[in-house]
Amino acid sequence: MNYQKNVSTDLIADGYVTIIAGPCAIESREQLDTIAKIVKESGLSFLRAGAYKPRTSPYSFQGLEHKGLEMLKEIGDKYGLYTTSEVTDAETVSEVAKYIDILQIGTRNMSNFALLKKVGAVAKEQKKKVVLKRGWASTIKEWLLAVEYITSQSDEEVILCERGIRTFEPYTRFTLDLSAVPVIKKLSKLPIIIDPSHAVGQSDLVIPMSRAAIAVGADGIIVEIHNEPEKALCDGQQALNEKQTADMLAQIRKIAATLGKKIR
Ligand code: PEP
Ligand code: MN
Repeated sequence: MNYQKNVSTDLIADGYVTIIAGPCAIESREQLDTIAKIVKESGLSFLRAGAYKPRTSPYSFQGLEHKGLEMLKEIGDKYGLYTTSEVTDAETVSEVAKYIDILQIGTRNMSNFALLKKVGAVAKEQKKKVVLKRGWASTIKEWLLAVEYITSQSDEEVILCERGIRTFEPYTRFTLDLSAVPVIKKLSKLPIIIDPSHAVGQSDLVIPMSRAAIAVGADGIIVEIHNEPEKALCDGQQALNEKQTADMLAQIRKIAATLGKKIR
């Protein structure tokens, strides 16, 4: 089957909720190919997959790095999917950007101002979009100021991503601050997506929080999925398997429809 890209590279579009799905980390060509096929055949257009993985523990899998990026480019092209991956280091942004469509800045780097400035410059030069995750201990004001480090270099689009903040509640991995969506809509014109996966950290909780994300008015979600979550090298406990992915999409499609939106 010949797969084509079927939406514009714009991550956000009026009347649509954009779903970015894929594994936490690229583990092998076969793994990424299998998951990309699920993403494409689910009718989606955006693939996420980490090549450089800034892990809390230095003993955890750190990603396939450059080799992973090459696989992401190859498989994104094969299935006609736009790709996003995390940029972790100002020195490599320019090179990493050649392989992906959307530059992701992770929670641990929201306040890495040298990286933000460099991402802004590279986004302008290479016409890339930027997803800026909220620092898990950052206020909304600090998050919006971080955007200005990027946009002072670039007028390329920045999309905010709420991915949970640290509170006193240990049951979930972080606490998803859903109110960030209406607050951001009130304070700025920036699009905002939700990452339910890193927020709750458990796959069975990802589906209800995805429903809530759509209902609260998020412009999209970024969600971790895996063909074999129990074997994943990274964040398997929070990854949706193929069936859960289909269930999640069916459920959020209904909620989006009540708001006059479609899933893409
Ligand atoms: C990720 O999306 O792969 C990731 C590491 O997320 P965060 O930066 O939100 O922890
Ligand atoms: Mn992850």
